[in-house]
Amino acid sequence: MKLLVILLFSGLITGCRGNSSHSLPPKLLLVSFDGFRADYLQNYEFPHLQNFIKEGILVEHVKNVFITKTFPNHYSIVTGLYEESHGIVANSMYDVITKKHFSDLDDKDPFWWNEAVPIWVTNQLQENRSSAAAMWPGTDVPIHNTTPSYFMNYSSSVSFEERLNNITTWLINSNPPVTFATLYWEEPDASGHKYGPEDKENMYRVLKEIDDLIGELVHKLKVLGLWENLNVIITSDHGMTQCSKDRLINLDRCIDNSSYALIDLTPVAAVLPKINTTEVYNKLKVCSPHMNVYLKEDIPARFHYQHNNRIQPIILVADEGWTIVLNKSLPKLGDHGYDNSLSSMHPFLAAHGPAFHKGYKHNTINSVDIYPMMCHILGLKPRPNNGTFGHTKCLLVDQWCINLPEAVGIVIGALLVLTTLTGLIIIMQNRLSVPRPFSRLQLQEDDDDPLIE
Ligand SMILES: [Zn+2]
Repeated sequence: MKLLVILLFSGLITGCRGNSSHSLPPKLLLVSFDGFRADYLQNYEFPHLQNFIKEGILVEHVKNVFITKTFPNHYSIVTGLYEESHGIVANSMYDVITKKHFSDLDDKDPFWWNEAVPIWVTNQLQENRSSAAAMWPGTDVPIHNTTPSYFMNYSSSVSFEERLNNITTWLINSNPPVTFATLYWEEPDASGHKYGPEDKENMYRVLKEIDDLIGELVHKLKVLGLWENLNVIITSDHGMTQCSKDRLINLDRCIDNSSYALIDLTPVAAVLPKINTTEVYNKLKVCSPHMNVYLKEDIPARFHYQHNNRIQPIILVADEGWTIVLNKSLPKLGDHGYDNSLSSMHPFLAAHGPAFHKGYKHNTINSVDIYPMMCHILGLKPRPNNGTFGHTKCLLVDQWCINLPEAVGIVIGALLVLTTLTGLIIIMQNRLSVPRPFSRLQLQEDDDDPLIE
């Protein structure tokens, strides 16, 4: 019965959405608060965000991609690809063939981005649609010769209010209409690095500010009449963990730094040997019990971090909370970039709008699953990707989904009904076959017939 109701409803909703889609193309705003660790939601108060979730959905943990850094993870969200496939494999990169360098301050060369096609480009290839970006890594770069129709050059000094004003103006006034938009904010990442996530007092203050910004966002969307028809996803790229001056791995104690070039430092160091690779590897391998040292060909498959020229011949992965340094003191009290199986590295995802259920909580999805879900909402054909649309079906009103406890309940329920029915049939049959008076006598008469003949 429950199954029937769900099927009927999902059919009705699909029908309704199908009819209305001619007049109103679906719109989606993707928001990232950088470095918003998933369990901040349990450990701090977020009245505005909790209201948003109450009327929408929450995914408590998003398993992001390795390495858990900002540029790579933001690009995975908008492409559905692991880092080895989209090519943004770190915030600092070096390409041995072209000898080009990439850093978060020098990221405008499309060469680095062109190994993938982000959703804002695909969206604009559709007739009568445009994209807009109030910042998001890559949105101010002409990827495949295309920027969003409306975008801002990255600058951390632009206020949230200005970014929000721009994005709402573009969502309302543009022609062709903006159907996909991004909004990016640097906090709580910046404060997480500065104070460390265990600094409750400072993090309380910063996270309260973030919640107020979410309140502003929702208020503005309501005032402008965008709230009911706009799908809004609020998520992040990674979490944050506490570092300490007592947890340093000093490479200079193990190896002469003239024997290699360091492309990226911590917590995942990318090492390009200048001498024999095995020699460098052997020295680094025994450097610290608190980091794993991998030759590129031995990087564990679960990281999906191997098949790209920009991944260096040796990588060092520090244990959670450990910092790789070159004869220096601790650079920051909080960091990310570590193993993506650590829950401290995971962000969350919340969403609200006509595409999403209301008041639904879900345990986990992968960050690469967000891309096929966004394509579905916008009616775009997704490009080949590493995500699974099925993982996000339970979040969407036009999809039928069933989770494991429900499935087990339905199977047990069906078995109980079948067993009861079978039992009833057997009892009825037994009652019908109870011998009636004289029936045996009649049978005997029949039996006698052939003998008489
Ligand atoms: Zn980040």
